[in-house]
Amino acid sequence: MPRGYRVPIATSGGVPATTNMPLSVSAHPLRSGSAIPTLTDRPSPHLSWEELACHDGTPYPPQWRDRAQELAAMFEAFRSAMGDRPIQIASAYRTPVWNRKHGGAAKSQHLEGRALDCRPPTGISNAAFRDRAKRFALRDQRVGGIGLYGWGVHLDIRPHRTLVAWNRVPAGTRLHDRRSA
Ligand SMILES: [Zn+2]
Repeated sequence: MPRGYRVPIATSGGVPATTNMPLSVSAHPLRSGSAIPTLTDRPSPHLSWEELACHDGTPYPPQWRDRAQELAAMFEAFRSAMGDRPIQIASAYRTPVWNRKHGGAAKSQHLEGRALDCRPPTGISNAAFRDRAKRFALRDQRVGGIGLYGWGVHLDIRPHRTLVAWNRVPAGTRLHDRRSA
C-alpha cells in the first residue's frame, strides 16, 4: 500500500470527501485505474495534484503516485516545521521540454517528480526561511537535496546517502556561505 495521507472515499452520491479538488485530476483520462490519482484523494492535506503538475499543463505522472506521496509527506513535515503556514509551490514536476525551456539542470530532480521549489510563507523572510529549511533538511532523512535561492528553497527526495546542498543566493547577502554546499 502507498504510504502517506489518504482521504476516505465518499460513501454516497459521488460527492468528494474533500473540497478544492483540482479539476486537472478529474480530467485525467486514466483516472479510473486503481493506481491512478482519483477525485477523492490528494497527495497530502496541504498539497494538491494541481500543485505537483508541470506548469505546461502536464499532470504529475500517475505511475509515480507513491513517489508523490513520499514527497508530500516530506512537504507536510517541512510545512509544519515552518509554522504550519501556507507555502507556495513555485515548481514541482517538470517535463523535459519545460525544464529545458526554463533553465532547469539537465538531471533535475523535478524531471523525476521528486522536487519542490518553495517560497516562504507570509510573515517569514526569505533569509529566515532558508535558514530554517537548511536545519530541516539536515534533520529530516527524507531530504536528499536542498538548494538555497533568492526566491526560496528547493527541496528534493532523491535517493541518497548524504545530503546534497547548494547555495545560489547572490553573493553579498547575509546567508551566502559555502559551508552549506
Ligand atoms: Zn528546484
